[in-house]
Amino acid sequence: MAYVISDDCISCGACESECPVGAISSGSEHYVIDADVCLECGACVSQCPVGAISQA
Ligand code: SF4
Ligand code: SF4
Repeated sequence: MAYVISDDCISCGACESECPVGAISSGSEHYVIDADVCLECGACVSQCPVGAISQA
C-alpha cells in the first residue's frame, strides 16, 4: 500500500531529504508523496514530527 501525507502536515520538509528516490515534494497545500515513485520503504515515517505520514 502506498504511503500518504495527511492534512496534519506542517510542511517542515524533514521527510523530503529522507526519501531515497525523491518521491516527496512540497505540494500546493502540504507535502505530498508521488505514489508512482515511492518504494514504500517507510523511511520517511519516523522523520515526521506530527505523524502525518502513514500507509493508505
Ligand atoms: S516510503 Fe520511502 S520511498 Fe516512499 S516516500 Fe517514504 S521515504 Fe520515499
Ligand atoms: S515531515 Fe511531516 S510535517 Fe514535515 S513536511 Fe514531511 S509530512 Fe509534512
